[in-house]
Amino acid sequence: MSCASPPPSTPDRPVEVVAAVLLSEGHVLLCRRARDVPYAQRWEFPGGKIEAGENPEEALRRELAEELDIEATIGPELWQTDYDAPDGSCFRLHFFAVERWQGIPRPQAGVDQLAWVPAEAVEQYDILEGDREFALVLPWLLNPKLCDADELFMRVALLEARRAYAEGEVPVGAVLVRNGRIVARGRNAVERGGDATLHAEMLAIRRASALLGRRLEGCTLYVTLEPCPMCAGAIVWARIVRLVYGAPDLRAGACGTLYNIVQDERLNHRCQVHGGVRAEESADLLRSFFRQRREQSRGVDP
Ligand SMILES: [Zn+2]
Repeated sequence: MSCASPPPSTPDRPVEVVAAVLLSEGHVLLCRRARDVPYAQRWEFPGGKIEAGENPEEALRRELAEELDIEATIGPELWQTDYDAPDGSCFRLHFFAVERWQGIPRPQAGVDQLAWVPAEAVEQYDILEGDREFALVLPWLLNPKLCDADELFMRVALLEARRAYAEGEVPVGAVLVRNGRIVARGRNAVERGGDATLHAEMLAIRRASALLGRRLEGCTLYVTLEPCPMCAGAIVWARIVRLVYGAPDLRAGACGTLYNIVQDERLNHRCQVHGGVRAEESADLLRSFFRQRREQSRGVDP
């Protein structure tokens, strides 16, 4: 890895990006990036970086004029995502609803195609990785009655698990949710961090505690694999109200399989547990990871 230039941002100072969700009869507008810009031909929600001195709404009005040639009235903020890119850059993405605009959206600088897409189909597009979480939650934001929140947040945790996989880590992901909003995300980072305690749940709990304090009352933890004894202990100490996990862990599970630390009457806090949500998807990801690792250690190209 080259050390020629410092990373453009840090977790304390992410690059802030605004994105617009142009809404029309259940469809949203996606832009495809032109051939001569970074991430060419990938799809994204229209928008861009907030320049110095701009507030998010001003930045978005400017971006929509530049990219789509429209004059938009910016609606409420729908969602915020913190995204850590594999190159070390950190982004904070703000997604705003836009239902009113003047002019007809037409591809301008940096954009070569537009598509009106049903909200639930956005995730099937080849979109930028930073937009992926929002693509998952969008149908739920627009119509919460049509979605199962446990399924949805588990899918976001699985997204984190896949990112861990791509980074060479055992694929486990976690998100902490309070009042329907993600407070913190985490993915396994034991190998990269050279630290046995950097489990997905521990990272999510530490990040949430930095924002909310040491008691995470009112929070639900979603994690793709049943927590181990260390993480189960942390869940108890942080007073997490509810735990939703994916696959059971037959070798180290401490939330019902080998132990049940999170519901032990002798401890001073217990949490509700719901296991088995999208368990197959999580187990498949883990099996595929370990198969690939075995093949690599035998010198077989996967
Ligand atoms: Zn753990």
